[in-house]
Amino acid sequence: MEFGKILSRVHDLDKLLISVADYAKKLVNVDRCSVFVYDEKTHELFTKVAHGVDEIRIPADQGIVGLTAKTKEIQVINDPYDDVRFSTEVDKRTGYVTKNILAIPLLDSNENIVGVFQAINKLEGVFTLVEIDMLILVATQASGAIEKALLFAKIIETQEKIITKLAIATGYNDDGIQNHPKRVGLYSELIAKTVGLDKKTSKLLLSSAPMHDTGKVGVPEYIIKKKDKLTNEELALLKNHTTIGYNLLYDKDDELLKIAAIIAKEHHEKYDGSGYPDGLKGEEISVYARITAIADVFDSLTARASNKQSWDVDTSLSFLTHMKGRHFDPVLVDAFMEKKDEITEIFSKYNYE
Ligand code: FE
Repeated sequence: MEFGKILSRVHDLDKLLISVADYAKKLVNVDRCSVFVYDEKTHELFTKVAHGVDEIRIPADQGIVGLTAKTKEIQVINDPYDDVRFSTEVDKRTGYVTKNILAIPLLDSNENIVGVFQAINKLEGVFTLVEIDMLILVATQASGAIEKALLFAKIIETQEKIITKLAIATGYNDDGIQNHPKRVGLYSELIAKTVGLDKKTSKLLLSSAPMHDTGKVGVPEYIIKKKDKLTNEELALLKNHTTIGYNLLYDKDDELLKIAAIIAKEHHEKYDGSGYPDGLKGEEISVYARITAIADVFDSLTARASNKQSWDVDTSLSFLTHMKGRHFDPVLVDAFMEKKDEITEIFSKYNYE
């Protein structure tokens, strides 16, 4: 029950693996516990948790762990050096002496392998039947939690890919600005964290800010690509991307899409009320959009797009300062200015060379 409680609190896969290994290590008094997770893409078993050892990746059919994954059967080895199932290669390389091993397959609800739990070197004696039973119980609970964590990670990964593809579909196919949506998300998250918005809200901004220009799918492509000055009529059509984006993204039952919709609609509003589409002023503009506006403009200034000159980080930041209270919320600009190191890091990591 105690272990179940621990598991129910952890959703992050890495932390989960550490919790399981730590708990099992204490429970049966062994030197090392590891939880290997099966990576179906690479057909490998990997672990983030091996007490005293860095991340390990092994082919899914190698060693005792591999054998456990393949047979889906528990393996108990008490005299490894006399056992054909054991390879001494890793011990030779690391200088570690394996005395006994218990490996338990971790299966999902469809009896497919999700990983292998491994305990090495009982500090006293060999594994007893009671201990094996206890570890099977731990492994069974861990399997469910790992399955859930993997599914959760997969959903987030898919969501991020869809968001990126959506942004690319709106015309970001220039080398220098293909990472624009991503950077806008990262800068927005940075500002949110700095002004003290909670972690969940900051994460929502990370995912929703990249969708700010989704409405451009409804604007004729020649207008988006046009290098010369737009006519008044073309400009009006371009400005429509705010409301088009809102209508496209809004979903009353989904928090992320609701925020994304508000950002799409209000990211061209200006603090002094001179923006569009509604001429909102100050805090009438949602804080999400006020944040995204700073991130969006900063990134457009610094991005090395092929069709324009870009500004360096310092010049762009002074421009933001210059526009405080006019285009941007002064408090949010100040927060952004504070984080120059992080800004530079994001800028250099996701800008093309
Ligand atoms: Fe826009």
